[in-house]
Amino acid sequence: MTEFLQELSAWPEERVRTLVEGATLADVDRVLATADRSPEDLAVLFSEAAGQRLEAMAREAQRLTRWHFGRTIGLYTPLYLSNVCGADCTYCGYSIKSGNTERRVTLDAETIRRECEALVARGFQNILLLTGEAPYAVPVDYLAQGVAIAREYFPSVSVEVYSLDGPDYERLCGLGLEGVTIYMETYDRETYGRVHLLGAKSDYEYRLGAIERAGNAGARKLNVGVLLGLHDWRVDSFWCALHARHLQRTCWQSSVSVSFPRLQHVPERFHIPDLVSDRELVQLMLALRLFLPEAGFNVSTREAPEFRDRLIPLGTTMMSAGSSTRPGGYTTYGEETLQQFEIEDRRTPAEVFNAIKGAGYDPVWKDFDRAFDAVSTEPAGELPVR
Ligand code: SF4
Repeated sequence: MTEFLQELSAWPEERVRTLVEGATLADVDRVLATADRSPEDLAVLFSEAAGQRLEAMAREAQRLTRWHFGRTIGLYTPLYLSNVCGADCTYCGYSIKSGNTERRVTLDAETIRRECEALVARGFQNILLLTGEAPYAVPVDYLAQGVAIAREYFPSVSVEVYSLDGPDYERLCGLGLEGVTIYMETYDRETYGRVHLLGAKSDYEYRLGAIERAGNAGARKLNVGVLLGLHDWRVDSFWCALHARHLQRTCWQSSVSVSFPRLQHVPERFHIPDLVSDRELVQLMLALRLFLPEAGFNVSTREAPEFRDRLIPLGTTMMSAGSSTRPGGYTTYGEETLQQFEIEDRRTPAEVFNAIKGAGYDPVWKDFDRAFDAVSTEPAGELPVR
C-alpha cells in the first residue's frame, strides 16, 4: 500500500461526514482565526455552518492568495492531440462506448505545429496537451513527439493524458515537459468503479499513484482535482485536499495546484449523481484556499463567463481561455471532430485577458514563476487587500 493510500484510509467517509455535519458556527469562527489549518479544520470549512461565513472566508482567501501569488492570474489553453479513447468513463464524451459518431482523429506532427502556431499568435505561452486513453493510437512515443513539438513554441508545456509509469514521465520531462495534470475524478472507490468501466483507468490504485510518479520523475507542476458531481463534493474534495497536501510534502520540488472541473454537460446515458451549485463551488474554493494557501487554483472554461469573473478574486490563480475541446479545433478541423465536453466560456483570449484586467488583476501569459518572483519581495504588511 502506498503512503498516500495509508493516509487516505485513516479518513473513511463516515469520519469526514461526522466532522462536516457536526461543525458549529463557533467551530467555523475558531478555524477562521487559526493560521495553520488541519484536515479537521478543513472539514469544518466544508460545513453548512461555514456556508454562513462565506464573506469572512472570502476575505481570508483573498488575503492568502494575494500574499502568495500577488494580483496575477496565469493564462493557459488546452490543445487536444487526439480524441481516440479505448476507455469507458461513463460521464465522458470521448468514451469508446459514448455512442458518439462524430469524427475521431489523432493529429499528425504538421497539424500539431499549425495548432501551436495559432495559439502562439493568440499570446499563449502555457499549453496543456490532452489525449484520451488510447496507447494504441497515442503511445508514449507519440506523446514524446507532441511534447517536443510543443516545446518549440511554448516555454511551458503540460500534459493531461492517461496514467504513465515513472520512466515514461522521466522521458517526457527530459524533453522539456513541465507539468502533469491527473484528476482522480473521484477518490471514492465504489463510485470510481461504477463510472470507470473499461481501460487502464479502471485501476484505481494505478491512477492514484500517477501524479506522484510524475513528481518523482521531475514534473515541476502537479495538478490534481475531482470531477465535481460524481460524489459528495465535501467528502471527495476533502480527500483531494489531503492528496494535494501529501504531494506538497513528498514532491516538494514541484508546485501543486488544484482544478475544479464541474460536471455540467454529460452524455445522454449519464446522470450526474451529486450536482454542485455555484454557491457550493465558491465555498469549496474558499475552504481549500484556507487549507492550501500555496496551491495554484485553476478555473477552466467549463464555467460560465460571469461566474468565472466572480471567482477571480476568490483564490483563482490560473484560467484557461479561448478553449476548444476538439483535436484540430483551433485551425484545422473547426467543429468537425468530436469534442470532449461543451465549454461555457466562449470568450476570446483577449476578452478573458481584459476581464482579468478589469477585475484589477494582471493576466500573465507564461506562469507564476516570473510573477511570483516579482511580488515575493514585497513586505507582508504592504500587500494590498481589496
Ligand atoms: S475521461 Fe479520459 S480516459 Fe475516460 S473516456 Fe474520457 S478521454 Fe477516455
